[in-house]
Amino acid sequence: MRGWLWWLGDAHGLGRRLAGVQVPELEVSPMRVSTAFSRLLRLPDVWVRSVVFEPGRVLVTVALRRERLLCPRCGYSTPYRENLQKDASVWRHLDFGVWRVEVHARLRRLRCPEHGVLVEGVPFARDRARFTRDFDDLIAWLATTTDKTATCRLTRIDWATIGRVIERVAAEQLAGEDRLTGLTDASIDEVAWRKGHRYLTLVGDHHRGCVVWGCEGKGQAAADRFFAELDPEIVPAPKPDSREPLEFHEESVEVQAEPLEAPDIEPAAAQERPPVGERAGKLRAVTMDMTGGYAKSVREHAPQAIICIDNFHVVALATKALDEVRREHWNDLRHGGDQAAAKAFKNSRWSLLRNPADLTDTQADTLTRLHAAGGKVPRAWAMKEMVRAIFAPGLSVNAVDILITRLLARLSRSRLKPFVRLGHTIRKHREGILSARRLNLSNARAEAMNNRVKLIVRRAYGFHSAQAALALVHLVCGPIKLTLPHEQTFV
Ligand SMILES: [Zn+2]
Repeated sequence: MRGWLWWLGDAHGLGRRLAGVQVPELEVSPMRVSTAFSRLLRLPDVWVRSVVFEPGRVLVTVALRRERLLCPRCGYSTPYRENLQKDASVWRHLDFGVWRVEVHARLRRLRCPEHGVLVEGVPFARDRARFTRDFDDLIAWLATTTDKTATCRLTRIDWATIGRVIERVAAEQLAGEDRLTGLTDASIDEVAWRKGHRYLTLVGDHHRGCVVWGCEGKGQAAADRFFAELDPEIVPAPKPDSREPLEFHEESVEVQAEPLEAPDIEPAAAQERPPVGERAGKLRAVTMDMTGGYAKSVREHAPQAIICIDNFHVVALATKALDEVRREHWNDLRHGGDQAAAKAFKNSRWSLLRNPADLTDTQADTLTRLHAAGGKVPRAWAMKEMVRAIFAPGLSVNAVDILITRLLARLSRSRLKPFVRLGHTIRKHREGILSARRLNLSNARAEAMNNRVKLIVRRAYGFHSAQAALALVHLVCGPIKLTLPHEQTFV
């Protein structure tokens, strides 16, 4: 052990001579080691008291330089200490090469008028964290830029713990950040963050191209919570219980034929409308899907906002209708006893559902074969493509309007139930589809953002809570810039 310490002292002197830099003279050993470690660790406001090497890890014991005690939650400071911690607190820090580094410190406890008796806060770690701030930042950066396996393997930390780190970092980044002021064109959409109908609702800003707000749950109740946070003084926060029953039964509403209802609220209900909040009143347009829940909330809280339907939701419904027809045909083949044909047809799924431009040569051949065979599947495919054609770039609003009229006529004559239903849905939301085109809000950029969120949320599968999944979305898709420890100001 002693040899190590001396070697470090020498190495420092040698390095200094080689680099020719002016470094203040170090104190005599064993202080040299503490100073060297102090610099290596780069933890603010601490003295390094001792360094111990154990198999696979380095234990560095530190003491705080400051005399006053700080509450870790509110920053309250006092010179009086209640008592001393029985056991030292431990934080993991950035590795030194292959060595895992642990920082140990025996801290004092203080009495905060608001938070009671608790262990003092330290400048190098976030409240209740078992990792230093630098290590937290490295983990958050890795989790947002690389995949789950690489992050876990490199940091030697399990994914659930990484979820908690992400929550901490996101909470700090979002605190005090006003992301909702100046919002004029918004998007609102849900994304499943875990199997079993667990959703996050996210609000995006079309102009900044980022996610600005999110919560667990979906539908009208989730949108109501957004408006409550947008204008807290006007809109009362909805009760947490009230959102639960709305969570599940909206899934299949999209493609079902619904009776056409006038979007306007009856006069009696209109009188009960809450006043429109200042920030809600500045919303020009909100893009969404066709389930109806978000639209209801927007009509109530921001009646001036134009409701637009995102193109990719319409295309997704058409693809879903095609998939239904495909499955029906596959079942017909199976029950008709032609197992070989059924098997061959099953493999054609992606040839049908993917965009023709993205098909591989084999998939394109399969598609040609299906067309040659005729029947309802190629007809359904042609209708799906007709829906996609409405959203081709460069079309004028009038052209889109004409195309929708033609499409609706074709769908209603199709004699394929899923497509007849799709026709009803599109007819009902025609105005919203045209508005999106008029304002140019549902475009490739909006779709790219949607795909990015889906990809990130898939990485969040396996997190313990919706909050962790949401934090990851905020860190990746929000207006946040994460920095690595070495990119931060050197202290
Ligand atoms: Zn406090």
